[in-house]
Amino acid sequence: MYKRRGKVFVVSGPSGVGKGTLVEEVLKKRDIHLSISCTSRAPRHNEREGVDYFFINKEDFLEKIDKNAFAEWAEVYGNYYGTPKAELEKHLSKGQDVILEIEMLGAAQIKELGEDAVLIFVLPPNLKTLKNRLISRKTEDSSAIEARLSCTMDELKHLSNYDYYLVNKNIDLTVDELLSIIDSQAHRVSKDFIEYLEESERQFSL
Ligand code: 5GP
Repeated sequence: MYKRRGKVFVVSGPSGVGKGTLVEEVLKKRDIHLSISCTSRAPRHNEREGVDYFFINKEDFLEKIDKNAFAEWAEVYGNYYGTPKAELEKHLSKGQDVILEIEMLGAAQIKELGEDAVLIFVLPPNLKTLKNRLISRKTEDSSAIEARLSCTMDELKHLSNYDYYLVNKNIDLTVDELLSIIDSQAHRVSKDFIEYLEESERQFSL
């Protein structure tokens, strides 16, 4: 019997582009697990342990890197971020799809793992809108905002590593577009399905 392995949906995009809201809306409509990352960054006032992130100190993070506990990790704006490997594997092996909301270096590592991953990049309608969103969010000071905007310009250079892009002009529309990307993957020929067919053929029991 074919036991489907879950797919990984990687959602990346600049800070303030609306990834969080987008993913939140998609999770209400589809049975997908959201991976909770570990970070060495300090929690923001509205963030909760185990819901937004697992907040750990830098030493513990580095120890986890040594123990190979992350499926991917990256240092972003001087802080570490990583996807716990065991948790990801637990869901994928049950056939459950997983969303990772991570930046592009981590996205590239997931692709290299050979996992059945779909990489989606969310763009703002323009940089001015993005800057205004970051200012109104009030979670970063002006130098952090400038750092994030210049990082966005760098990220755009790596867009070709992604499978899809979305322009978040209107959140409802973008949610629908992301849902259609997710739904379109249901019958995509995947590596594990091919392996299953080859095995079945060997046993004459297709
Ligand atoms: P923030 O500090 O705004 O929560 O996140 C900063 C950046 O780190 C965002 O682009 C976010 O998507 C990314 N990020 C969050 N978790 C992870 C992770 O586990 N791995 C990687 N590579 N990036 C992450």
